[in-house]
Amino acid sequence: MLSFEDDVVIEQAEAKPQLHVVSAPPAPSVAANQPAFTGRVNASDKRMINGQTDVNQLVPFKYHWAWDKYLAGCANHWMPQEVSMSRDIAQWKDSTALTEDERLIVKRNLGFFTTADSLAANNIVLGTYRHITAPECRQYLLRQGFEEAIHTHAYQYIVESLGLDESEVFNAYQEVASIKAKDDFLIPFINTLTDPAFKTGTPEADQQLLRSLIVFACIMEGLFFYVGFVQILALGRQNKMQGAAEQYQYILRDESMHCNFGIDVINTIKLENPHLWTAEFRDEIRGLIQHGVELEYQYAEATMPRGVLGLNATMFKEYLRFIANRRCQQIGLDAIYLGATNPFPWMSEMMDLKKEKNFFETRVTEYQTGGALSWD
Ligand code: FE
Repeated sequence: MLSFEDDVVIEQAEAKPQLHVVSAPPAPSVAANQPAFTGRVNASDKRMINGQTDVNQLVPFKYHWAWDKYLAGCANHWMPQEVSMSRDIAQWKDSTALTEDERLIVKRNLGFFTTADSLAANNIVLGTYRHITAPECRQYLLRQGFEEAIHTHAYQYIVESLGLDESEVFNAYQEVASIKAKDDFLIPFINTLTDPAFKTGTPEADQQLLRSLIVFACIMEGLFFYVGFVQILALGRQNKMQGAAEQYQYILRDESMHCNFGIDVINTIKLENPHLWTAEFRDEIRGLIQHGVELEYQYAEATMPRGVLGLNATMFKEYLRFIANRRCQQIGLDAIYLGATNPFPWMSEMMDLKKEKNFFETRVTEYQTGGALSWD
């Protein structure tokens, strides 16, 4: 079974593309569909950003790891309505089945995630996608965008199944301070990429892109999701809200891959553009990650005013420091919190989900991959 650490090692190994390190000054971006070259594409000419090769030509492959992740994402396909919510609905209606603190966790989780995955989708589709000039990565980003839509669908499905107050849940990111603080932190970095006037091609702009990619992969998908994931999966481990927990388990698996893909993109941009990775920039990134840890810890405290499910906010301080160190190491920064350990080793098991053998066993149907089509 893969541990959290194994996962990191594998991703780092995958993140070593065969590259020519580019020392030439950055070329203007042709992220739109007008290739500067009219000849056939050579894999060695492809670049992650500011590429000059035709973005419509997927092959010849250069970034094989991105194509492999696209295939893995497709193999993990799932849909929310495949998961039965009947037991969750019964528990939610039963005033003795869940404590008030457990109900608060469910509502706050949905309050954060219902809008977080929409932010993620918009960031990919309206921002990141057009700045990335590797067609293999664009292919993965298309898959990732759909997965974000599936996640938003899942949260909506849970809200609807439980009969929650939709306006309370969907407005939480504006009305609940600990959720709003996280989104207020993220939105400027998303706005950078989605600004129609923003273009890569100068060291400053390329650093802005890299900064936003790091915030998105390492802090949003790689840190801000994890208190929520642990909370709901802890409920499921105690036979509570198992339909919701199963969906979170699929989402965790998807998000783990999104995070690892983002880290591979970041490391490739660094390899291809070493002039961006200055000491000053590295310090700034470490500061952003520390800020992210503080915001997520505040969220942990606000959603767990008392101990619940054997969890308490203090355990999350250690967990978030452990994850933050991992994220630093994954992108080549020194660890920030020396000696931090993982208080939730069972989370590795959750990430190693095999779709056909789900942990909570609430699945009601197997996904059909177009097998009904026949040309006979
Ligand atoms: Fe994601």
